[in-house]
Amino acid sequence: MKCAVIGGGAAGFFCAITLAEENKNAEVIIFDSGNQFLRKVKISGGGRCNVTHACFDPRELVKKYPRGQKELLGAFYTWQPKDTVEWFRNRGVQTKTEEDGRMFPVSDQSQSIIDCLKGEAKRLGIDLKKGMAVKSIVHKNSQFKLLFSDGKIEEFQKVCFAIGSMKSSTLAKSLQELGHPIQSLAPSLFAFDIKDDELTKLAGISVKDVSVRILPKGDFQEGPLLITHRGLSGPAILKLSAWEARKLLEMNYQFSIEINWLGNQKESDLRNSFAEFRIQKGQQFVKTKIFEKLPRRLWESILAKVKIDPDLQWAQLPKKTESL
Ligand SMILES: Cc1cc2nc3c(=O)[nH]c(=O)nc-3n(C[C@H](O)[C@H](O)[C@H](O)COP(=O)(O)OP(=O)(O)OC[C@H]3O[C@@H](n4cnc5c(N)ncnc54)[C@H](O)[C@@H]3O)c2cc1C
Repeated sequence: MKCAVIGGGAAGFFCAITLAEENKNAEVIIFDSGNQFLRKVKISGGGRCNVTHACFDPRELVKKYPRGQKELLGAFYTWQPKDTVEWFRNRGVQTKTEEDGRMFPVSDQSQSIIDCLKGEAKRLGIDLKKGMAVKSIVHKNSQFKLLFSDGKIEEFQKVCFAIGSMKSSTLAKSLQELGHPIQSLAPSLFAFDIKDDELTKLAGISVKDVSVRILPKGDFQEGPLLITHRGLSGPAILKLSAWEARKLLEMNYQFSIEINWLGNQKESDLRNSFAEFRIQKGQQFVKTKIFEKLPRRLWESILAKVKIDPDLQWAQLPKKTESL
């Protein structure tokens, strides 16, 4: 059986290896349009490759995915992080778990993952062909004909596309003709550009636990947030961009967000804290850093934004300013 795997990334290698392991008579070839296999794996996880996550209950695991939860649940009952850990361990790559559940190779080098995948491909006799972009596919007489960008045509009995994302419209069209639905793409995991000098002059400030949401009714995402010279970034923002990816695209990236700099602390709790400050810290200046989590520069900027004189004492603060 002649099998082609299109795309020499993590998915393509894993598919080709599994295919070759389970079908000893299969001739498996990986084609990649680029000149380097597993290029993305190399840079993944800041060069360490966050290979999986220590979450071993499929029902919990799907909750971490912004879309496709229903479809993924079945897949996770077939293959889940425990299987990934075991798969690599059986092939000589030990993993370790960090405090937040992320799992990396003990070497802290994505190269360990690359070496493992390439080593397995070699052991199983998988042919690797780079610089070969597939332009289109047709199915005729029980054979798949692949047309490559250099004009070459090759025939296979089985073909798997693992090309990351669909950029070529001719290829998308030929796959649609074979009956595959193609989902349109939406950018995800990006930082927010915000034109607001008052915000960007605070570049460099990071707050550990904030919650952010798209107004008016988005769900809150939590995590660290970083103010950059272009706007906002950090895990909370990246998470928000992933969960709201489709909505943000629909809004043409013009939207308002709400940031709770104190994580999930409620407005009513904050009002109570302010009332206590008036009594217990009445002599203290409002500008004094009062919230352990908030950097002083950010607190001063919030006071300026709501026009509260930072040199007032808590006891002198007019009661109505608590609502600002
Ligand atoms: C900076 C960064 C850090 C990341 N960190 C992590 C991390 O730590 N952990 C994690 O799990 N994920 C991480 N990711 C995401 C992860 O890298 C990807 O989800 C994963 O590599 C996707 O693998 P893939 O095989 O599906 O696609 P890809 O790696 O994109 O591979 C697809 C391959 O197909 C080839 N191709 C495309 N079109 C054609 C064609 N027509 N013909 C032939 N070949 C074609 C491409 O050249 C490419 O090599 C990170 C991503 C980035 C960008």
